[in-house]
Amino acid sequence: MLKYLLLAVVIIWLFYSPALRGKLQGGKPPKAPAPNPTPTKAESMVQCANCGVHLPEGEALKDGHGQPYCSAAHRQAGPGRA
Ligand SMILES: [Zn+2]
Repeated sequence: MLKYLLLAVVIIWLFYSPALRGKLQGGKPPKAPAPNPTPTKAESMVQCANCGVHLPEGEALKDGHGQPYCSAAHRQAGPGRA
């Protein structure tokens, strides 16, 4: 019976040890499964024509002239920067 208990402890230790080692190394797992999980697929950044804030092109709102804006309010206000 003790043998099975020890086996269970070893299995649990093996299960948790990578996480513990990751915490000791600074909270990151030792090896990332994917090379780059964050969606940085060369999405270009654009600048709001009104306030100049940078945002991904996919999130930008464009007016009739193709000018990017960060919000509908800024798109309505139009280009605000000289
Ligand atoms: Zn803006």
